[in-house]
Amino acid sequence: MSSANFDQQGTQSDGERLQAAMQSFVSEFGVTAALHLESCVHCGLCASACHFHVTTGDPRYTPIHKLEPFRRAYWREASPLAPLIRKLGLVKAPELADLQNWQELIYDACTMCGRCTIACPMGIDIAELIKEARHGMFKAGLVPERLALMDRAARQWGSTATPGEDLPDILADAAREHGVAIPCDLPSADILVTAAPAELGEHTKALADAAKILNRLGLRWTMHSEGFDASNIGFNNGDLELQERLTRSLVDTAVKIGANTVLLPECGHAYGAARWEAAKWYGQALPVRILHMTEFLDEQLAAGKLRVKKIGATATFHDPCQIVRRGGLEAAARRVLAALGFELIELQDHGVTGYCCGGGGGVVSNLRAAPLRQKVFALKQQQIDATGAQHFVTSCGQCRITFEQGAKKAGWTKPTESLLELVADQLAD
Ligand code: SF4
Ligand code: SF4
Repeated sequence: MSSANFDQQGTQSDGERLQAAMQSFVSEFGVTAALHLESCVHCGLCASACHFHVTTGDPRYTPIHKLEPFRRAYWREASPLAPLIRKLGLVKAPELADLQNWQELIYDACTMCGRCTIACPMGIDIAELIKEARHGMFKAGLVPERLALMDRAARQWGSTATPGEDLPDILADAAREHGVAIPCDLPSADILVTAAPAELGEHTKALADAAKILNRLGLRWTMHSEGFDASNIGFNNGDLELQERLTRSLVDTAVKIGANTVLLPECGHAYGAARWEAAKWYGQALPVRILHMTEFLDEQLAAGKLRVKKIGATATFHDPCQIVRRGGLEAAARRVLAALGFELIELQDHGVTGYCCGGGGGVVSNLRAAPLRQKVFALKQQQIDATGAQHFVTSCGQCRITFEQGAKKAGWTKPTESLLELVADQLAD
């Protein structure tokens, strides 16, 4: 069912939806979340950090405001003074209409980029709290329909792009088109290589380029129909059950074939889900190493195993939030760019303080959010143009799609280039 402002799924009654969300919110209120929710001093600094607030000036997009129903649930249900607060009616109980109204703020107007987190003087991790709020929204069946549709596909297929049984044919087509061998379903390998959905559709060059590099290195690797899509839609949607299932499918498949490494594609939220959250599903150290493509390229170049011809031009770089700010890989991409012979001209805001592309956290797939996303694109476009750099590069396919969509709409002709594809194009003998 849909309205102009929110979508909802399932057949729960209004009361059941509210109860499901509240139960989930309360289950998230561990010590860390409680400390964060108690320590806001209302300084407003997070507002000037958020690209949605900066580009619209709309006070509803103040980061801490996006958590308002979540905060109210905390004060009434889990804070030390909760019984008194309820008895005296000091904090209004969240109603279903509040959650419906907040859907846009939690899903369309937050990319979980974490820029507000580093701006907050109290260290409140708003991005993480938004992720926890999404868990409750998912339980209540209050997710933008486009994301819910992808969730249903991933639950059925293990991927938003394709059922696993179709993977061998897709890879065979990509291998033929790009003239490269792409092994699939080998019973044993050292590296399990994974993909983002776009790489199984319009961006097969990225997939083929990864194959080209791995083959050049002479590594024992394979893709596998039991675990191939790293872009965990459960992570973005707040569907914890799906997030766990998709994460386990990657790690379990790697273990099954004896791989010691899972190689992630150029995808930001894949890195967040598989690199930083996978261990909690296992309850122990992961039995495999999980590497982002940029880390892999950086390591191979540093070891002298991979050599590239220098391009000798200027470039600027968009730092994907989940990889750089949330993931800590700021230096790796810059070393790869240096190996390619680029003179790097940094964006005005870059590295851990770089602005998000505007499409993270599932926002790029949420058609409803397109006008808002376009405002963020204008900010990024202005910063990229101001560098005067000849090349514009990034290391996340979702960021790339966001920029490509924004460029198309704005009539901006600068291509968004993939770091991986540049390395593959410049391989030296
Ligand atoms: S996480 Fe990013 S998008 Fe979300 S409120 Fe903070 S700055 Fe804005
Ligand atoms: S910056 Fe931190 S303390 Fe200040 S209003 Fe935002 S969340 Fe609250």
